[in-house]
Amino acid sequence: MLVLLDIDGTLLKTHGAGLAAMQATAEELHPGRTFSFDGISISGRLDSLIWRDLMASGGVDHARTDHGAFRARYGVHLGRVLDAAGRSQPLAGALALVERLAATEGIALGLLTGNYEHTGRLKVERAGFDLSAFEFNAWADDGDHRRDLPPKAMGRHAATRGPIEPADVIIVGDTPLDIDCARANGCHVVAVATGAHPREELAGHTPDLLLDDLRDTDSIALWMTSRKRPLADPAR
Ligand SMILES: [Mg+2]
Repeated sequence: MLVLLDIDGTLLKTHGAGLAAMQATAEELHPGRTFSFDGISISGRLDSLIWRDLMASGGVDHARTDHGAFRARYGVHLGRVLDAAGRSQPLAGALALVERLAATEGIALGLLTGNYEHTGRLKVERAGFDLSAFEFNAWADDGDHRRDLPPKAMGRHAATRGPIEPADVIIVGDTPLDIDCARANGCHVVAVATGAHPREELAGHTPDLLLDDLRDTDSIALWMTSRKRPLADPAR
């Protein structure tokens, strides 16, 4: 099995550090302009798309500005914000679950996230996770849409560990877009209501397993290890 875990709202919370750092970066690179996240959808979206919307909020044409410069400075600002507030915190049960899954034979782990790679790694490391546990990852730069990400992580698994079928992939996330990207690729999906979306809302998107949090390590690990079978209907 390949278990792909989302970062924000699933493994950890940064209490708005990412948005604060993005805004500080935009204002530093475009002095005199005002940027706002009002009306911008954040939850489950790729950082590269949030960046485009943020630029538009300040009247900046993203095609005429330097995405690379933004990414580099965002990393610096995020490190500063996380340092100052000490606020990348693991969510309940997440550290223990990752530790358990990483030690379970037949399970490989990866991060599947809308974060840029450098800032995603920063958040995960600062929250106390062992980054080396996550071998097959997919990041914001791996596609234009979250649906593009699972095949990237699976391709990385194929390159070193051998091909893997969607029916042997479990995606864990806190938003309807996590569920959508799993369904679109024929993967299993676990939704956890520790992010911005309440349990009732996630239930409406019919994940295979719906959890209040990741605390029940034994049951979650057992559920995951017993998924190794063909999906009844990969297209659903
Ligand atoms: Mg999330």
